[in-house]
Amino acid sequence: MTERTLVLIKPDAVARGYVGEILGRIERKGLTISALELRTAPGDIAAAHYAEHEGRPFYPGLLEFITGGPLVAAVLEGPRAIAAFRQLAGGTDPVEKAVPGTIRGDFGLEAQENLVHGSDSVESAEREIALWFPQLATN
Ligand code: ADP
Ligand code: MG
Repeated sequence: MTERTLVLIKPDAVARGYVGEILGRIERKGLTISALELRTAPGDIAAAHYAEHEGRPFYPGLLEFITGGPLVAAVLEGPRAIAAFRQLAGGTDPVEKAVPGTIRGDFGLEAQENLVHGSDSVESAEREIALWFPQLATN
């Protein structure tokens, strides 16, 4: 069963020049890139994207970070694409959780600036795809 997932290459990764490296890992895993766009996130999209974290202490800083420079938004497709990309990404904290060999484990030092986002469920993926790529929404 093919799945779709919404991926962000966050502003820290773009600023540090890791777009090619991260897209390369996605391609080598075998996931298909079905949409790809460099853009600076407007505040309303960023807030909606991270709505589940509203009220957490890191939320205001997270919105500032995610809107603070260009990012790459992408839709990936493939069998178990959601879990497959989260496997490539590694755990949320690049030092405490992500292991070497993952994107966050190899390149990250801080909980906030952890290089990538990947949807965590089919429901999140469809919601996030509709937010970032409304033309690809299924309903
Ligand atoms: P994930 O991106 O792995 O799904 P979460 O959904 O828990 O992680 O958090 C969303 C994003 O918020 C993280 O990717 C990270 O950028 C930021 N974040 C999470 N926890 C913290 C924290 N304790 N301090 C700062 N930023 C955080
Ligand atoms: Mg999450």
